[in-house]
Amino acid sequence: VLRQAVDVLSLKLEQKKLIVTLHIDEDWIVRGDAFLLEQVCINLLENAIRYTECGRTITVETSIAKTAGTLTIADEGIGIAPEHVPHITERFYRVNNARSTADGGTGLGLAIVKQIVDAHEGTLHIASKQGEGTSVHITLQNYDE
Ligand code: ATP
Ligand code: MG
Repeated sequence: VLRQAVDVLSLKLEQKKLIVTLHIDEDWIVRGDAFLLEQVCINLLENAIRYTECGRTITVETSIAKTAGTLTIADEGIGIAPEHVPHITERFYRVNNARSTADGGTGLGLAIVKQIVDAHEGTLHIASKQGEGTSVHITLQNYDE
């Protein structure tokens, strides 16, 4: 699912000369809707692409623990001020920033991500530092749990 999402966005990644570092553990299997989970990955990657300057690196990583695994999509982009972070999963919420409004999104991407993750009984955590980058972590139960 992750590789497919990166594939879908390969043209956009190339156009911005972004480097994607993939560390995917093939042993991680989750129970869920492949189409919706791919949508989650696409939305997060689209954000990483949109809010990161050309030539930077986007890291896609999975790590498996005993009962659950975590997907991390991290960028070296513009970041999000702390007061906005709690709100960015709200529908139509966009940070009022010249660089983010120039390339118009609708502010729905993360709301959709949150809904899909909730439907899979997973958790979503966003960590960000303005001017340094953003990391989104999604934790989902392992298939055998
Ligand atoms: P779209 O509906 O096309 O996804 P969007 O990207 O504006 O539009 P969201 O994906 O929901 O909407 O993101 C909400 C807001 O959170 C964005 O407008 C942006 O301000 C901020 N944001 C989200 N991801 C990042 C990121 N990786 N780096 C910096 N800001 C981000
Ligand atoms: Mg988006």
